[in-house]
Amino acid sequence: MTAFDLSGRCAIITGANTGIGQAIAVGLARAGADIVAVGRSSMAETEGVVRSAGRDCLTVHADLSAGGAAAEVMEKSVALGARPDILVNNAGIIRRADALDFTEADWDDVLDTNLKSVFFLCQSFARSAIAEGRKAKIVNIASLLSFQGGIRVSSYTAAKSGLAGLTRLMANEWAAKGINVNAIAPGYVETNNTEALRADPERSAELLKRIPAGRWAKPDDMVGAAIFLAASASDYVHGTILPVDGGWLAR
Ligand code: NAP
Repeated sequence: MTAFDLSGRCAIITGANTGIGQAIAVGLARAGADIVAVGRSSMAETEGVVRSAGRDCLTVHADLSAGGAAAEVMEKSVALGARPDILVNNAGIIRRADALDFTEADWDDVLDTNLKSVFFLCQSFARSAIAEGRKAKIVNIASLLSFQGGIRVSSYTAAKSGLAGLTRLMANEWAAKGINVNAIAPGYVETNNTEALRADPERSAELLKRIPAGRWAKPDDMVGAAIFLAASASDYVHGTILPVDGGWLAR
């Protein structure tokens, strides 16, 4: 068994139906973990690939923008028989508008999904792990906007900057209790989240010019970091926000 082997482990991944979440669910399964796929859309495609990798895949339907949904995810997972020891908080949305025009609805929707639900899912996951004496790993999906300001994405920047802070806070409180809390900060990844950016030729060319790797990321580019932060290889890593950004932040 290597330090990157996830055999015998069980991972909850939110937003596992598409994009980065789907790639991470499949990647963790191929590394040996059983999967609990959480989200508001059908998980059939992810479930098929996870099962073809020889791993179990439970699905939990949840709209994570709703109050109380995050805590219910843990209850439902446990009721289905899962004993999760990895949590990947991946589900997230983005709304774009100038700060001068930004609406309260676009603020609340993004903060509820990208920050509030993440905190309460971490809380219920950590409570369960601590109560049962399980060592556990939390991997939050942050953003370059956990470090930078961005443009036209006020609530997203607030949420992802807040998530970086919360990742450090939870790491401080839970490291000694056997829970590692870390985050991945993806660069620009080809998913639904960046469709509007990629559809704008000027903005898309500007972004590409700044990426040292010379290309946008594919969802699969996030998998290695996710396995590392979920596996025993990262047992002494706490509270870090790991950029996987093709070198963007080095510029
Ligand atoms: P995506 O393809 O739009 O995936 C977002 C996922 O979140 C989908 O599974 C979506 O479900 C789910 N989700 C959204 N709202 C939800 C809700 N209320 N309840 C349950 N699930 C919900 O985009 P992505 O790029 O893979 O995004 C994944 C994460 O990476 C997000 O946290 C995003 O902020 C972050 N990220 C992305 C990039 C990038 O360049 N793409 C960069 C940095 C960080 P549905 O399919 O049902 O909508």
